[in-house]
Amino acid sequence: MAVPPPSIIETRRHQMFPTLERAEIERVRRFGEVRRYEAGEALAKVGEVGHGLTVILAGKVEITQHDGSRPRQLIATHGVGHFMGELAQLAGRPALVDAHALEPVEALVIAPDQLRALLVAEAELGERIMRALILRRVGLLETGAGGPVIVGHAEDGDVLRLEGFLRRNGHPRQRLDPDTDPEAKALIERFHVDPGQLPIVVCPGGQLLRNPSDTELARCIGLVGPIDPNRLYDVVVVGAGPAGLATAVYAGSEGLSVLVLDCRAFGGQAGASARIENYLGFPTGITGLALMARAYSQAQKFGVEMAIPDEVLGLAPASETDGGPFVLRLSENERALARAVVIASGARYRRLPVANLDAFESSSVHYWASPLEAKLCAGQEVALVGAGNSAGQAVVYLASQVAKVSLLVRGQSLEASMSRYLIDRIKGLPNVEVLLGAEVTGLEGHDGMLEAMRWRQGASGSEVRRSIRHLFLFIGAAPNTQWLAGAGVALDPKGFILTGADLTGIELSGIELSGAASTGTAGGPRLPLETSRRGVFAIGDVRASSTKRVAAAVGEGAQVVATLHAFLAARS
Ligand SMILES: Cc1cc2nc3c(=O)[nH]c(=O)nc-3n(C[C@H](O)[C@H](O)[C@H](O)COP(=O)(O)OP(=O)(O)OC[C@H]3O[C@@H](n4cnc5c(N)ncnc54)[C@H](O)[C@@H]3O)c2cc1C
Repeated sequence: MAVPPPSIIETRRHQMFPTLERAEIERVRRFGEVRRYEAGEALAKVGEVGHGLTVILAGKVEITQHDGSRPRQLIATHGVGHFMGELAQLAGRPALVDAHALEPVEALVIAPDQLRALLVAEAELGERIMRALILRRVGLLETGAGGPVIVGHAEDGDVLRLEGFLRRNGHPRQRLDPDTDPEAKALIERFHVDPGQLPIVVCPGGQLLRNPSDTELARCIGLVGPIDPNRLYDVVVVGAGPAGLATAVYAGSEGLSVLVLDCRAFGGQAGASARIENYLGFPTGITGLALMARAYSQAQKFGVEMAIPDEVLGLAPASETDGGPFVLRLSENERALARAVVIASGARYRRLPVANLDAFESSSVHYWASPLEAKLCAGQEVALVGAGNSAGQAVVYLASQVAKVSLLVRGQSLEASMSRYLIDRIKGLPNVEVLLGAEVTGLEGHDGMLEAMRWRQGASGSEVRRSIRHLFLFIGAAPNTQWLAGAGVALDPKGFILTGADLTGIELSGIELSGAASTGTAGGPRLPLETSRRGVFAIGDVRASSTKRVAAAVGEGAQVVATLHAFLAARS
């Protein structure tokens, strides 16, 4: 039987729970205020927003994890020089663990904004604290403790959606099987849930949600709160992929007030990548989610506000005095105000033109190849359609998890679209069959579950039918610009955003502006990365003629901040 990998709590305990020296405590005193707690008093409660990072000056505190109806489990006991907190404290989010004073306690409480100031001001100490906060979150992710409990079947489309949403947002979770787990049965009875109403979600605060949307779940667990409609941000960034997060890190570190909105999760497409091997500085590769989680924490360290998930539905049309402030229309009838806007809304996956595709999209057709999907497909044959690098990465990853991968390629070779290293690696995989000149013609199955698929292949065009229960699609992406309808931002014929020099002579080329045509390039040439609308910038995959790569998106995220300074300075 395979031995499970050792827990991070065991292997990195010394980094997770460091002790601050007396001199170090003195250095951080200026960031906090001293508080006293009686024996038995709670210093933090699961589901409640806490006071921030807490350094123990005297006494002992017990940290326990709240785990449904199972007995409470001890995570750590903190004594003098230890500090309590994990990533939630950086952003002022609800606690994921409980903390109680075991005896009278005196503690230095550092509020989230002061914690961020400390991390920036105290470089070496800040690094140790930041590492501990991240490792503690990783430890909670391992056990799932402190997060919501999902009751439902692993292959149910809504369970997959909810689990995927929490995983991509780096939030702990647990799933209980309604057929086999006694605790799940007890919850179903207690809340009188019919089998057809599954999944249900029990939030750490005890609230019950019946098959919630991602936004309902996020609001219940405190991932996202209301946005102040009257606060004028220096910059609002639409999209938290690599481009948006890079803007956030550079703009935040350079003192601008920044709000980042994303309708799904941080990381964008890069967050879905099983292994990025061509990003500078990671010779052994890194999972997209790990890379993006670092950027997400880094942006928060610099005081950037995150609203995820929160969808931007529109950008108010240009007024007579365009150039800001800009009004962004958000879901839940909210709005955000900005002196400048950076559009980093990237691209979304393309769907296959097969009539009944949507019938299988929640359970059997996948657009990501993450450990969640791999678990569902373990030991089975799967099909994957695509020929680019993202398809190649997914094939390499899935081949290590499933019995066989059939790679369906429409063209006659992979060379034109996939990097050499991936082609070579695929060639070396005995359980991958590459089928050139293959096009999917039909999907068969019942109740949302795929049972077989058909494809036409080769010069004869003969149709092949194969029993396959999981289909992965990696067939490119289209720009996320539909929300810009009527916003006066010029797009190219494929819907990508035109910027800078690409806008020169735009009225002559016949390209329609998506709304207020009067904005055009009137008023002179645009700054680099600036759209047809002054003060609105576009970066990353959503921008026409950008290089569709993580490094290019990150580079444009950094570049746009220099341009933003020039724009904001000219307006002030
Ligand atoms: C599976 C896969 C593997 C890849 N592997 C690599 C690789 O190895 N190396 C490499 O260099 N590149 C790779 N790429 C390409 C790379 O991921 C992209 O070029 C990069 O992510 C683009 O970054 P971006 O920030 O511009 O956009 P995206 O990553 O697309 O992010 C855009 C974000 O905007 C959000 N959004 C969209 N509309 C709205 C709205 N209206 N309101 C709020 N939020 C919105 C989306 O939810 C998304 O999170 C891969 C892509 C995929 C899909």
